[in-house]
Amino acid sequence: MKIKLYQDDLPSNLNLGLTIAIDTETMGLNPIRDKLCLVQISKGNNISHLVKINDIKKKPKNLIKILKNNKIKKIFHFARFDVAVLKHSYGINIKNIYCTKIASKIIRTYTDKHGYKDLCSELLNISISKTEQTSDWGGELSKAQMKYAATDVLYLHKIKKKLDIMLSREKRIDLAEACFKFIEYRTDLDLGGWPDLDIFRH
Ligand code: MN
Repeated sequence: MKIKLYQDDLPSNLNLGLTIAIDTETMGLNPIRDKLCLVQISKGNNISHLVKINDIKKKPKNLIKILKNNKIKKIFHFARFDVAVLKHSYGINIKNIYCTKIASKIIRTYTDKHGYKDLCSELLNISISKTEQTSDWGGELSKAQMKYAATDVLYLHKIKKKLDIMLSREKRIDLAEACFKFIEYRTDLDLGGWPDLDIFRH
């Protein structure tokens, strides 16, 4: 794995292709309260690009351009959170989303283990550590934090490939796609004041 760290934005000349894996680290799990600290992106070639967000009021032009490009597919794990944070931080609506957690829940109905670590382990036979998950992302990053953050986007392309084979086999691609498309509205509900309500429930 190769890690590239940038301050405040991606370089303008970086070509990440048409399918990117993306993840964020924040100060906590509330997308309105908790500040965005880091954005990780990979094109699936074993290189992780980390953007440290030092000033949330400064718009990362190049990063936002990629996020707003509807031709680029963005693979997340638990897109609902990252998409809400990015929407709240920069006022952008991200489309063309793939969420490995949703895909897993729709197809791996034989288990309740849908974490990134679980998918790496079962689908790719790779064991990863999640010990830095709950650390303080607001200050200078440690080597361990950088490695953890970079690893979070390293395997999403491969996981997607495996899940897509299963979704196709069981004819659930359309259902998964419909859920991915709903994420932009789910995050609107989250940020608009309905974070915990299941609006479909009686
Ligand atoms: Mn992460």
